[in-house]
Amino acid sequence: MRGLIDRLDRQKRLELEEWTALLSGFDAGTADYAARRARELSLERFGKRVYFRGIVEFTNICRNDCLYCGLRRSNSHAVRYRLEPEEILACCREGYALGYRTFVLQGGEDPYYTDQVLCQLVSGITGEFPEAAVTLSVGERSRGSYQRLFDAGARRYLLRHETAAPALYRRVHPPEMSWENRMRCLRDLREIGYQTGCGMMVGLPGQTAEDLARDMVFLGEFQPQMIGMGPFLPHHDTPLRDCPAGSVELTLFLLSLSRIMLPDVLLPATTALDGGWEDGRTRGILAGANVIMPNLSPVAVRKDYLLYDGKPGLTQDAADSLRSLREAVTSIGYELVVGRGDYGEWRNEHGIFQGF
Ligand code: SAH
Ligand code: SF4
Repeated sequence: MRGLIDRLDRQKRLELEEWTALLSGFDAGTADYAARRARELSLERFGKRVYFRGIVEFTNICRNDCLYCGLRRSNSHAVRYRLEPEEILACCREGYALGYRTFVLQGGEDPYYTDQVLCQLVSGITGEFPEAAVTLSVGERSRGSYQRLFDAGARRYLLRHETAAPALYRRVHPPEMSWENRMRCLRDLREIGYQTGCGMMVGLPGQTAEDLARDMVFLGEFQPQMIGMGPFLPHHDTPLRDCPAGSVELTLFLLSLSRIMLPDVLLPATTALDGGWEDGRTRGILAGANVIMPNLSPVAVRKDYLLYDGKPGLTQDAADSLRSLREAVTSIGYELVVGRGDYGEWRNEHGIFQGF
């Protein structure tokens, strides 16, 4: 196992069969070995700095019906809300005052947010906070739509590929959604020039080591600037309610392997890591992650943005969320950075990289 990790470190790629062997046969010692190397690589690039991005969950209305997600349109128990652009701007203002320089706007695929409304919102935010970056995470749209949002000032986009195994994708999505369209979206985003993030859920029902191996091969080929991955966590009002949660240990191992394969990648320790384990996000940092996305959403709506059960921080306001995550990060000897934290920025600081 260690030989495979060393090979990944040297060659930055493994064959599908090698990934499968690594992911099906790992133990605590192997995970620790990978985490040490991943942490070394993060330290070389980012030092003990963790980039903080404020996330605004601005609508839980969704036209899609992903089987795993509490926001799916068939979930009639969800209490639906939508923040108006002015309310979203107010969240950004609060975040800006707290020091945030990246705002992540995430939501269901809500038809109210047409190109026109979203573009106005994006240009409103970049107009008011010219040095801040806007990241969008609003699902599948047409190429033209992605282009218009880019032209309005959005520069980063998070769209998880969810799984690189088409058969598994079909099992956890309704027939009208397709893996091919997900891939089309990711290609479009990258071609348009977004810093693009993809990523998968770990422990989806029926997911095999080979499925995850496909995810790793895909990440190596796609070379995303960000990777958002977290364990699958069941939601009580979805068809997958009785399925077991994904393993935090396996997620941490995959985070480490992602860092080893793509050393420069922006790698969030995602909220779902804490859903399964209190100190999941700090463990994520120690496994090679370098980004945390505290919640900037109004407290009143946080409990209604439930993708899965057990979401932490439901009663905290923006300042409290920041405070508790800052404490968690400093307790492991790391420091919080609220700057933009663009991909490749560290190279600029060292005078090597001239992009972005
Ligand atoms: N609608 C957008 C963004 C919101 S969902 C989209 O789908 O891209 C953001 C992410 O939450 C999804 O990509 C999915 O990976 C994750 N997610 C949804 N339900 C989940 C669950 N039950 N457990 C873990 N992650 C989940
Ligand atoms: Fe909608 Fe995203 Fe949830 Fe799918 S994962 S139902 S697209 S919010």
